[in-house]
Amino acid sequence: MAFDVTVDQEKCEGCEECVDVCPVEVFEMIDGKSSPVNADECLGCESCIEVCEPVAITVEET
Ligand code: SF4
Ligand code: SF4
Repeated sequence: MAFDVTVDQEKCEGCEECVDVCPVEVFEMIDGKSSPVNADECLGCESCIEVCEPVAITVEET
């Protein structure tokens, strides 16, 4: 299974919670916002969605 991970840059508040929680290091902080640079590694666990208070992250099966 593959997943498409997106971060709404307008909603991201730069808390870095998604960076800390992701077990496969999908996210990197770029200019104070989270960016899903390694989306190919995503396992679809949705832990990042749970910790993101502004609901900026979307994970979709492709
Ligand atoms: S958890 Fe949400 S608000 Fe925090 S850095 Fe990640 S995408 Fe941005
Ligand atoms: S769903 Fe899980 S593996 Fe995928 S980006 Fe979020 S925390 Fe990482």
